[in-house]
Amino acid sequence: MTLTRHQTSTKSGGEPPHSKHFAPVGVRASRAERMECVRFTGAFGFTASEQVRKEQDASPARGFLLLTCEHGGNRIPPPYAPLFRGASELLATHRGWDPGALTLARTLARRLNRPLLAVTWSRLFVEANRSPTNPRIWSRFTRSLPRDERQHILERWWRPHRQAVEDAVAAALAQGHRVVHVAVHSFTPELDGEVRNADVTFLYDSRRPREAELCRHWAALLNSRNPALRLRYNYPYRGAADGLTTWLRRRHPATRYLGVELEINQALVGTRGWRRFQQQIAGSLRELLINHAQEG
Ligand SMILES: [Zn+2]
Repeated sequence: MTLTRHQTSTKSGGEPPHSKHFAPVGVRASRAERMECVRFTGAFGFTASEQVRKEQDASPARGFLLLTCEHGGNRIPPPYAPLFRGASELLATHRGWDPGALTLARTLARRLNRPLLAVTWSRLFVEANRSPTNPRIWSRFTRSLPRDERQHILERWWRPHRQAVEDAVAAALAQGHRVVHVAVHSFTPELDGEVRNADVTFLYDSRRPREAELCRHWAALLNSRNPALRLRYNYPYRGAADGLTTWLRRRHPATRYLGVELEINQALVGTRGWRRFQQQIAGSLRELLINHAQEG
């Protein structure tokens, strides 16, 4: 999985050529965190029979769960650092990344023993959750770069994650699984004066009844663990808007691929209840997948 190493940037052989000289801006994944991403990614290396055995042995969650995190960090590749000079404060905000999302995604991957594919480059560098044809894939820091340069960024930093996710979904489908893809995100508690009145939201495509049903089921399971959480659907964004799940829906039928963006309020991150909250998300997701597998 060379491609994923571009995003997770391990020191153990998969490092992009410039990373040695990279001065991190704000938060970055710890070494253990980066190693973990690669290890989880490695789970896709199983042969079909090994995978089946692994499913039977290790996990009550038999549906094939793929976890991704598109806004896991706010790093900038070194050659482009000059473009972001003076922007470290902005990079540290929700505009640069999704605080808490990678931590939660890692917790889910660990507790459910599932692969995680994560991006830790800032969304202000290139937006991992936008299509290349969407002008919003570029930020004010990058949109005036020459076309060739932007093309290079797409190939070198945007495409690898997209390709790794596409490959993972294709491999699971080829093994006869139905894929449940959970993309983990977080949203700022307040945007332009508007307070977001939700703690956890589930984004899905309302034209796909299976996704809607899955999300309502998940919300009910989470609610039973913590009735105080405010849960909403397709808020503060629409699940069918441009994004990785929308991209995959175009490529796979609704019966085989179910995409959900899990959004959590950043106000929860790092609170006293943060750890317990993550456990509740993980527990509800595990139960959801068991039920989902039984329903067939
Ligand atoms: Zn996000």
